[in-house]
Amino acid sequence: MKREVDGVTIECVRGDITRQPDVEAIVNAANARLTTGGGVAGAIHRAAGPGLEEECRPLAPISPGEAVITGGHDLPNAHVIHTLGPVYGSDHPEAELLANCYRNALRLADEHGITSIAFPAISTGVFGYPVEMAARVAIGTVLDEAPGLQNVRLIRFVLFGEQDLEVHERILAAGG
Ligand code: ADP
Repeated sequence: MKREVDGVTIECVRGDITRQPDVEAIVNAANARLTTGGGVAGAIHRAAGPGLEEECRPLAPISPGEAVITGGHDLPNAHVIHTLGPVYGSDHPEAELLANCYRNALRLADEHGITSIAFPAISTGVFGYPVEMAARVAIGTVLDEAPGLQNVRLIRFVLFGEQDLEVHERILAAGG
């Protein structure tokens, strides 16, 4: 499903964040040290190859809500934007920190002239953020930011599971 806001297309698809060859940047649900791990970070580092971790080393550590940019290495994407989501129940205020992830990633992409970007559902895996609450923050933030973007024209949410896709589609259709 798609929605257009001020010339920016926002869409939700089911899939794997490492298999989005038509977007310039993918977003990593990173850990503070920007190392490989499980979930999204593990999949991205595996697909990108060891050069990604090497490029990340001098940029670490990052704090919740912060975003940094690297090349895509062996990924089909030119860039990876790494952001650290809040751990639900321990990093406060969670919603603000999660909104910062999306806002900072979008602004960084825009500053680099990136036209298309794909996000996973940050913090909803190991970090334990309930998916419906996280989706409201994610989609609300993207809808708020879209009118201010100069370069980004496609924002894609890539959801791993069918239920996560349904939740995101429902919230996007309702306008956040
Ligand atoms: P966090 O530590 O921020 O919670 P995770 O990587 O554990 O990040 O999970 C974030 C979300 O991404 C979860 O909903 C998980 O199911 C999903 N996910 C895991 N692997 C992938 C992938 N390869 N592509 C897209 N989404 C993924």
